[in-house]
Amino acid sequence: MPSDDIEFERIREKLPGFVEASRKRSAHGKVASYIPELSKMPKDALGIAIMDGNGRTASAGDCEIAFTMQSISKVFTLILALMDNGEAAVFDKVGMEPTGDNFNSMLKLELVQPGIPFNPLINAGAIAVTSLIAGSSPQEKTGRVLAFFRQLADNPSLDVDKSVYESEAATANLNRSMGYLLKDRGVLEGNVEEVLDVYFRHCSVSVTCADIARMALVLAFGGTDPITGKPLIPRRYVQIAKTFMTTCGMYNASGEFAIQVGLPAKSGVSGGILTMVPGRYGIGVVGPALNGKGNSIAGVHLMETLSREFDWSMF
Ligand code: GLN
Repeated sequence: MPSDDIEFERIREKLPGFVEASRKRSAHGKVASYIPELSKMPKDALGIAIMDGNGRTASAGDCEIAFTMQSISKVFTLILALMDNGEAAVFDKVGMEPTGDNFNSMLKLELVQPGIPFNPLINAGAIAVTSLIAGSSPQEKTGRVLAFFRQLADNPSLDVDKSVYESEAATANLNRSMGYLLKDRGVLEGNVEEVLDVYFRHCSVSVTCADIARMALVLAFGGTDPITGKPLIPRRYVQIAKTFMTTCGMYNASGEFAIQVGLPAKSGVSGGILTMVPGRYGIGVVGPALNGKGNSIAGVHLMETLSREFDWSMF
């Protein structure tokens, strides 16, 4: 048997036990509640799907539960904004550095000149990036984002979870204040409420672990879907996205994740994690109980276990 097949068999064999061991960590985490609808997620759920370049999937735990992408969507809106505008225009509005602050902090917008968000994966940066997505109306922009996500996930039925969207839109005082500050500073162009509306919708796209694994697979293979052979994203933009995922994808725990797991990853407050083994696997994880930094507590533990067991660290 080729060595890839041997590893995949071992993954399949070990995954259920690893999931059950990591699930116990959920007891020490907290489900996000600042978006009220998210607090309905089951606290001790944990699921994972791992997909290889031939479309083989290994999955275990609660991998069938639906969750919203939240900050995971920021990776793909960044890519879409790069495809729409090119690098120079995007990096005129957002920087390339980690902040060391929480994902929803606005501290450095005031403290550090020129007052653009430090990177596209914190909320301020992602809101600025969303304002760059092409389209003549919020509806058209949301439609383009959805079409892009559907293509990457190879799932035409991906859609916005209306309850989560409405719940976030009704309670987003902090994101709203960030949007208006960015508008005041000339970083965000256009109508703030319309930009935020597109942002809340792309954060609320409902997925499963298999969808996330499928989207990650395209990134793992440099932007060309290894299953269909279709080039979907220019390689350079995948490189940019993966670099941001490595330096900022797990918020202010990105350094720790790089040391403990060593893979590009992006998490969301719903407890989702998109990660990948470059050139080999796309991975989707969900575990709604979060640690103090806003990452899935059981999901991070599971990735640490897998990376160590299969020697996946890129470093
Ligand atoms: N929609 C969420 C917010 O803006 C996304 C944040 C996250 O997943 N960390 O607060």
